[in-house]
Order: sequence, then C-alpha cells, then structure tokens
Amino acid sequence: MTEAFIALGSNLGNREDEIIRAIREINSLRGTRVTGISRFYSNPPMGPQDQPDYLNGAVRAETSLDALQLLDLLQGIEKWHGRIKTRRWGERCIDLDIALFGNAVINEERLTVPHLGIEQRDFVLRPLLDIDPDLRLPSGEKVSDLLSELDQSSLTEVEFPQFSLE
Ligand code: ADP
Ligand code: MG
Repeated sequence: MTEAFIALGSNLGNREDEIIRAIREINSLRGTRVTGISRFYSNPPMGPQDQPDYLNGAVRAETSLDALQLLDLLQGIEKWHGRIKTRRWGERCIDLDIALFGNAVINEERLTVPHLGIEQRDFVLRPLLDIDPDLRLPSGEKVSDLLSELDQSSLTEVEFPQFSLE
C-alpha cells in the first residue's frame, strides 16, 4: 500500500459539487480509500487571469495501485466530469494531480512526482499540511518549511459543507 496525496482544483461549474463528487470517486477507485481531507481554499488562477478563481484542496489516499494506474483512473474521473481541454492553465471543472506518491520520485513522460512546481504552490502545500502537519517531500524537506517561505496572501480559506464519503 502507498500513501498518495492528490491535489484537487475546480474553477468551472458548481466547484463544491465537482470537488465532493471527485473525492467520493477517488474513495471508490479499486484498491483505494480516502484517509484524509484538507480544508478548502479560494485562490486566483495561475496563467490566464480572465477566468474564475479556483477552489483548491487535497486528499490523502491509501492505495494498492501503482502511480500510473492511479493517474489513469484520475484522468478517467476528469473525463466523466466532462473536463474539456482548453488553453494551457485554462479553466476546468476538475483537476486531479498526484502531488505525492509515498516517497516516490517519478520522471516519466506522463507523470512527474512530486508534482511539478509543488514547492512554489501554496495552494497545494497548504492543503497537504492540513492533512499531515509533519509531511515531508521525498527530498526530506518539510512541507511546513517550504510553505513558510511563500507569500500565501492570495490563499483564502473558505467554508466548505460537511459531506460523507458515500
Ligand atoms: P495541469 O494540471 O498542469 O494544469 P493537466 O491537468 O491538463 O495540466 O495535465 C497535463 C498532463 O500532466 C497530464 O496529461 C498528465 O499526463 C501530466 N502529469 C504529469 N505529472 C502529473 C501528476 N503528478 N499528476 C497529474 N498529471 C500529471
Ligand atoms: Mg492536472
């Protein structure tokens, strides 16, 4: 079993519903269960600014899948949500990224783990820290240390409804 951290983002449609549905779907992937859920944050978009703000969060999942199997299934979920490719860093109803996969360091064409840019992204690191305050990257760096070097001023915690995993 591997402990994976998956970053979730949505800035189209009913963002809360998209995120809740995706978390339930992750929990029902074969060999996988969600063991932790972050707080949720509103954050301005990266890249093109003429798009809505993002709702961002993360989950921890225990999985018997390997990293590429997990990526395939997460991309399947993105498809079911009707995610359409737009421009680079464009708007999307759901984005599911493998932030961490145990202590794995993966550099394959389809998969880079830890997720590219994670060290600079408060909207990924902050939710990870919510789930595990002692979390470290495979490099040994503490997520809390990395986060304390970032500005974080554009990240706003939001009220998020209670929901069950079923
Ligand atoms: P982004 O998340 O960077 O905005 P996309 O969601 O459109 O972009 O993903 C583009 C590609 O990134 C995917 O086709 C996938 O193969 C690749 N990718 C590389 N590493 C990861 C990762 N850790 N998690 C998710 N996708 C990844
Ligand atoms: Mg993505």
